[in-house]
Amino acid sequence: MINNSNTTPSTTIFDIIPYGVDCAQRGILGVFKRVIGVPTLFFQAFFPDSAVAKRLSYPEGYVLLDDHEIDVECKDNPELQSTMRRTQTFVNGLRFKLGIQQEVAIYINPTHGQAGSCIGSRASSNKIGMILNGFAFYFPQEELEFLIAHELSHAAHNDGLKVWAYNLAIIIAEMATAYCLTPYAIPLIEIASAPLDWTFCYFAEKNADLSAIKVLRTAEGAISFFQRGQKGNLNKENRGDRFSPEGDDRHDLFHPRLSERIRYCIVKS
Ligand SMILES: [Zn+2]
Repeated sequence: MINNSNTTPSTTIFDIIPYGVDCAQRGILGVFKRVIGVPTLFFQAFFPDSAVAKRLSYPEGYVLLDDHEIDVECKDNPELQSTMRRTQTFVNGLRFKLGIQQEVAIYINPTHGQAGSCIGSRASSNKIGMILNGFAFYFPQEELEFLIAHELSHAAHNDGLKVWAYNLAIIIAEMATAYCLTPYAIPLIEIASAPLDWTFCYFAEKNADLSAIKVLRTAEGAISFFQRGQKGNLNKENRGDRFSPEGDDRHDLFHPRLSERIRYCIVKS
């Protein structure tokens, strides 16, 4: 176990700088990002299947497990095929436990930036899309199950829908201020909204972790998944100041620190 101590790591200047950089970037580009992001977030929340299809464009090599199509790369790999089918069955069982009415289509995207993500909400008109990076299938079973349960919890909690509504509200506030007061207030509103964004994401991620642990009735997969993350960060070459001595990514402003996630998962185990 890498870190199971109860001591909280001390905050250094390297922990604070990324927040300052994020605020500065928001002041310059925040409003543009939000205006571009709102239509995308709308489609992701309400029409996830078309949003995922558009994003991935069904390129060759991606597998749509929902229709039990196995791509060419996996055809000669019966073990991987059965893992994928087992995963679909697991996802179907889990969505009922989480109260999700919509079907969940699993997409494998070898170039996905994260191990997994889930697109959609309880308000989705069609299937919810779960995108998993192929490497997730080589995780130990309990870690893959935690990853899936965490991502499905986001859909069950309507997090995508909330992010869309929140972004829309900020844009309306900015337009109203620009109209009634001055457009120069927009960068200030963007900077002021940064702590709100961080806080919203922090609690959405923590709640998804806790919901996953609850529905799986074990924190084992969560703990080893986060420890894998810490280990990976500590093994990175040219780590610089980006990673803490515990292996936490200081540039990730939107998740609780891995060491904190491990701590609250241990409490729940
Ligand atoms: Zn998450």
